Amino acid sequence: MQTSRAAVLTNYEAPLELREFPLPPFIEPGAALVKVKLAGICGTDVHLWHGQLPIPLPVILGHETVGTIAELGDGLTKDWAGNSLSAGDRITWSSSINCGECYYCRVKPEPTRCLKRKAYGISYDCSVAPHLFGGYADYIYLRAGTAIFKIPEQLPTEAVVGAGCALTTSLHGIERIGVRMGDNVVIQGSGPVGLACLAVAKASGAAQIIVFGGPPHRLQIAKRFGADVCIDVDETSVDERKARVLELTGGFGADVVLECVGIPPVVPEGLELCRDGGRYLVLGHYGNAGTVELNPHVITRKQLMVAGSWGFEPRHTKAALEFLSRSREQFPFEQLIAQPFPLERAFEALQATASWTTAKSAIAP
Ligand SMILES: [Zn+2]
Ligand SMILES: [Zn+2]
Repeated sequence: MQTSRAAVLTNYEAPLELREFPLPPFIEPGAALVKVKLAGICGTDVHLWHGQLPIPLPVILGHETVGTIAELGDGLTKDWAGNSLSAGDRITWSSSINCGECYYCRVKPEPTRCLKRKAYGISYDCSVAPHLFGGYADYIYLRAGTAIFKIPEQLPTEAVVGAGCALTTSLHGIERIGVRMGDNVVIQGSGPVGLACLAVAKASGAAQIIVFGGPPHRLQIAKRFGADVCIDVDETSVDERKARVLELTGGFGADVVLECVGIPPVVPEGLELCRDGGRYLVLGHYGNAGTVELNPHVITRKQLMVAGSWGFEPRHTKAALEFLSRSREQFPFEQLIAQPFPLERAFEALQATASWTTAKSAIAP
């Protein structure tokens, strides 16, 4: 019997365990077996490892993956965008499947909040066959209904994983809050989501983009991606950063502030950076990182629009692949990926992400 290795999260905050699972004996109609080429480590994986979201254990992590089709189930002949699919094709896929039938899929269209939403690398107990529903593995099994995308030949695997779910998340978030031609934008955070928001805001016509973040190697990438001003959060106080934003925006504050950090105290700081009538997006809090004290008077007095955004839809994955194909030279996401880790060192890769030692870690099984 053929098997696949996988790095499994068995207990929160414990090292990942390398386990072997049998490959499915039969590929169901509409499903696919995929050989993993490169699996990204997302900041969310770190939150999951800490137990900040309710997920089943044991689980194979990994929701930003590129692979090649090993075997297709009956009837799966085209990808989500209508391109023909065959064995050997290089693909990626949207990490979650919506049911298409619930209140949020049908009545109030908020498909990312589908009541039956299940995401690869997050919501599947890997002790249940066919086991292989996460990217940190030799193989992954894609269920019928997965939004699969064939990757254009000229687009490197590293660019797709380097952009990862950060780019799709940012496209969704910025669609909700809006970045308009001529806007002054502040981005709180220079991790993958912050950098992806920077790329999307830049491409949307922002006039000036100010990035708060660190460490310095990440701010250098932000510069490379076109940030006008980078402010190291370890070298500045909240008051100094606010003074700098006011100075850079004619004393008014930013039109839009995008929160891409996931640490609660940055939210009250960010609200203070908006101009009157400005907009604030809380994007970085996918995990539940706890509470913070804030003064709602700021939101009323400044007449702020405050929005949240969770995950993304298949159409954002399609848009992300097109965006990457179009703007690779301007936004070289592949440069975010350091030397990939082999699967047996998956836990080190996760720790590298947790400690911010790399811009973006990945596993090449
Ligand atoms: Zn993610
Ligand atoms: Zn649904």
